[in-house]
Parts: sequence; C-alpha cells; structure tokens
Amino acid sequence: MYGYKLDPSDRHRLLVNEETAPVVKEMFRMAVDGLTPYKIAQAFITQEILTPRAYIAKTKGVYLEVLERPYLWNERTIAGLLRNRQYCGHIISQKQSRKSFKTTKLVKHPESEWIVVKDMHEALVNEQDFEKVQAFVQTKRRKSKNSEQNIFVGMIKCFDCGYSLTFNYNGIGRFYCNTFRQTRRNGKSCTPHSLPYPMLYDAVLTKVREISTFVKSREGDYEEFYNHFLQSGNDLNNASRKREMDKLKRRSSELENIIRLLYEDRAQGIIPVDRFASLFAGYDTEQKELSAKINAFQSQITQETDTMQNAGYFLNAISKFTEITELTPSLLRELIEKVVVHESNGYRDERRKQRIDIHWRFVGLLK
Ligand SMILES: [Zn+2]
Repeated sequence: MYGYKLDPSDRHRLLVNEETAPVVKEMFRMAVDGLTPYKIAQAFITQEILTPRAYIAKTKGVYLEVLERPYLWNERTIAGLLRNRQYCGHIISQKQSRKSFKTTKLVKHPESEWIVVKDMHEALVNEQDFEKVQAFVQTKRRKSKNSEQNIFVGMIKCFDCGYSLTFNYNGIGRFYCNTFRQTRRNGKSCTPHSLPYPMLYDAVLTKVREISTFVKSREGDYEEFYNHFLQSGNDLNNASRKREMDKLKRRSSELENIIRLLYEDRAQGIIPVDRFASLFAGYDTEQKELSAKINAFQSQITQETDTMQNAGYFLNAISKFTEITELTPSLLRELIEKVVVHESNGYRDERRKQRIDIHWRFVGLLK
C-alpha cells in the first residue's frame, strides 16, 4: 500500500515508508485545506512526484523511461488514496470475497460489512481530518457547476490528429485527445492535448468579447473589422494593389503594341527573320509573365471581395448578441465552427502556454 512498506520481520505488519508517507500526509493536508483531487494532482505533477505506479517501477528497478509519464497524477488516483481508511492506521478486511469456491470472481461487500481492525500501524492522517475530506471524494462523480454541461460539444478538435477531443467531467472538467494512447496506423500515437475546461471557456469568452466590443465601437463597419482582424500585415492594401495592377495592365498593352509593330516591320521586310525571332521571343515571354501576374492579382481581389462579404455575414451574426457576459450553446453555434487545440508547453503553472485556434463561421481564423 502506497505510503507504507511491509515489515521485513513480520509480513503482516505495515511500516511507514519514509519516501512515500510524506506524500500521503501532504495529500490529506491539501485536501483538508479544500483543494480538490484535481488541484492536488496538478500540484504533484508540478513538483514531479512519482505516481504510485512509477514508484513501484522505480523500487523494482524498472527504468523510469519505460513509463510514459512517471509524474502524471490524475484526480482519480488522488481520490482513491484519500478514500482509503487504512491511512488512519486501521486494517480493513473482507472488502471483497469469492462468491463460491467454484468461481474466482470477487464480490465487493458494502462498507457496513467491512471488518475494521483499529490501530494496526502508524496513521498517516487522523480520523477527524479523514472524515472532513470524505465529502470531497465521493465515489459518485460530482460534477462541478462549470462542467455540468459541456457547451462545446463536437467543436473541439486536436491539432495534430484532427479528432474531436474527449471531454472528462471529473473535477473542473478537461478536454483531452483520446487517440493518444492508441498507436495509429502510421506508427505514431497522439499526445494528450489536455486542456482544462475553464481555460478554454475563458479564452473563447475573452476573444468573443473583444470582437463584439470592437464591432460595436465601429458600428458594424465591415471594412474596419476586416482591416483589424483579417488582413495580415505584409499584404498589400487595396489601393496599392490596384496601382500595381494598373501598372501591369499598362505594360501589357504597351507590349501588345510593340509586338504588333514588330509583325508589321517583318511583313514589310524591314527587319530580318533572325532579328525578328529573337525580339519576338523576348517580348512574348514578358507578355506571358505579365498575364500570369495579372490573373493572380485578379483572383486575389475576387477572393478579398468574397471575404468582405463573409465578414458582413459574421458581423450580422455577432451583432445579434448585445453585452456578452457568458458563452451559451446558441452563441457558440452562431459564431464558431470549431476550436483547434495544440499541445501545451507542458508547464502546469502560470508558465503554461497552450495555443488554441478559433475558427469562426464565415471568416475562419481572425487575428
Ligand atoms: Zn490528437
């Protein structure tokens, strides 16, 4: 049992394990202070404390590298340990037994039938503290207010594998990529992409409010919206693109003229054949390059017109919501197509950085 070791002189006795007992004590202390199993798990991850499984591996001499994440505590492990009454110093037996000698299947007995033998080993927590903590660690899943409903159903995608992230209702709620355990066909498995629900909620709400406030202050002007949120800095703006386009078109008609004159001169025998051929080749190449450039510009301008139109649709949608103070399923459906989650930088504290891309309806990514 985690926190204890077997007495080498009496295999039925538990002795305090000096390495892991402080972890158990700390866990109860934090729980008494009101920290949820999720928060405790986060703290242990930050402190790089080996999980019980990793600890066993270490003591058995298994290389830790073979364990995927030796510090990855989860709230279920913490809650399980916090529910274990043996940390009060008691031995509990008959927690499960065989139904009959014919079967190996174990049946769990209700807690009232357990046999508790008190003060069998050194306690790691006193009974009062143990009882205080039990309310927080019920076997039944307690859903927090935030995570009771996941309003982002079907919207959250993994950047690396493209699958929808799974939502875990435990604690504060958390998204993670479920395919990370499975090895996919290309031999690569995905990483967890774990993202706490409140973090996502805050990020999306902040951005929605930023856009909404901007749009209102500009009275829904879509050109301003476009310039502020959509146009990337190194793009030519419309006016200079139009100037560039005019220049290309002028040169193109000049070339047409030159080539026409060249044909006339040739027809009248003014220039010899080889001279004509080399001049023509030069002008012809330039003409072809020019028309390619003009086409590219043209499609860019058309695309921009489409984007402008889409910006209009988006502005209509967001203008319907006045004073956005919370996210609702209908607001999300109206404004957001999907949210793509990147892997975080691994920190569990304030250094944590995790990129999420919000793909808005009609307009896609915004700055
Ligand atoms: Zn993935």
